[in-house]
Amino acid sequence: MKLKFVARPYELINKIQNYSWGTRNEQAFIPRLLNMAVEPDTPYAELWMGTHPNAPSEVVVDGRRILLSEFIKQFPQQILGTRVIERFGVQLPFLFKVLSAAEALSIQAHPNKQQAEVLHQRDPEHYPDDNHKPEIAIALDELTALVGFRSLKEMDAVLRTFPEILEFTGPLEFTFEGARHEEQENRQKFRQFYQTLMLKSQTHATEMEATLNKIEQKLLQKKKRTERDEWFLKLKKKYGADVGLFSIYLLNLLHLKKGQGVFLKAGVPHAYLKGNIVECMANSDNVVRAGLTPKFKDVKTLIEVLTYETGPVEIYEGAQNAKYVYKTPVDEFSITHVNLDEKSKLRFFLETVSIMMVVNGKGEIVFNGGRLAIQKGQSILLPAEIASFELVSDGSLEIFSAYVP
Ligand SMILES: [Zn+2]
Repeated sequence: MKLKFVARPYELINKIQNYSWGTRNEQAFIPRLLNMAVEPDTPYAELWMGTHPNAPSEVVVDGRRILLSEFIKQFPQQILGTRVIERFGVQLPFLFKVLSAAEALSIQAHPNKQQAEVLHQRDPEHYPDDNHKPEIAIALDELTALVGFRSLKEMDAVLRTFPEILEFTGPLEFTFEGARHEEQENRQKFRQFYQTLMLKSQTHATEMEATLNKIEQKLLQKKKRTERDEWFLKLKKKYGADVGLFSIYLLNLLHLKKGQGVFLKAGVPHAYLKGNIVECMANSDNVVRAGLTPKFKDVKTLIEVLTYETGPVEIYEGAQNAKYVYKTPVDEFSITHVNLDEKSKLRFFLETVSIMMVVNGKGEIVFNGGRLAIQKGQSILLPAEIASFELVSDGSLEIFSAYVP
């Protein structure tokens, strides 16, 4: 049946992913955000807003519920806008999410576009998309995460604190000492070390287990344990001898506060440990996992896709004013955060499609002579053809909006 297109905002009907690491019961964040009942002992991990076939969103058009992807197929020009079609074809190039983690997610990295194409061809079961998956994570309250390798200087300190690691990998043919600068040459050496560690964990499982047990014993005897020590003990208890445990000491430990964000380009190892965030990524579900998970682990592929950059990662500081843009270095998406107080408003101009998630308060979208009341928990598709609209706060209104820059 041919539908009729009207240039107006459309409310999305989204799916929730109940992965086991999601928040439950009193902690359950997503059902609270959506103002829905919490099913006892059900984990609420991710809310997906987009067209990815693993959990596609729907819209109501002419009183009928249809897939967003179907709606886009019928009205590409009106919904996506010319620029998106020219660059990406007839598809929504991003996937927008709310993610709520009570427990650590796997240590992972995402392939770049070229690697994704190869992986997908080689192993479509584990790599369902031929697309890359750069992503941005923005804290809605707090986020604890491991992101990117630490500086070589810090790594040196780790290997002194835990000589057990080098006993396992075998002595280094080099020293991190004096590696103050993150020079290419040193990165190459670090790469050798990390690859040895990861590969040996596969071929020498018993020795790895002994190494992890020694570290565990050492930590248990420590009087004052660090936060990393606590994570190690907690995750060792949960996953046993898992190679991902080493990464707790090898990656930067971040604590993002509300509004702070981090961009994860291809090849950067990361693991979210705890927190509620909005996340946006290229429309893809390609994850290379290498530990702290019962899912398929692919250590060989992981060490291939990593870029081995070391040192601190860049953090987006977030809004000081009513509006803040998290500009990413990719073409698929950027994020706008708007926080309006009493009875204020803000005008937006659209050239391309965007999806808005209301995270707090209520208000209105005023567009081409129409208005739509919005409130916390709603997510709205704004077709390109609307061209411009006003966001009006009723008391207070806070939204995150994903768009194609
Ligand atoms: Zn990721």
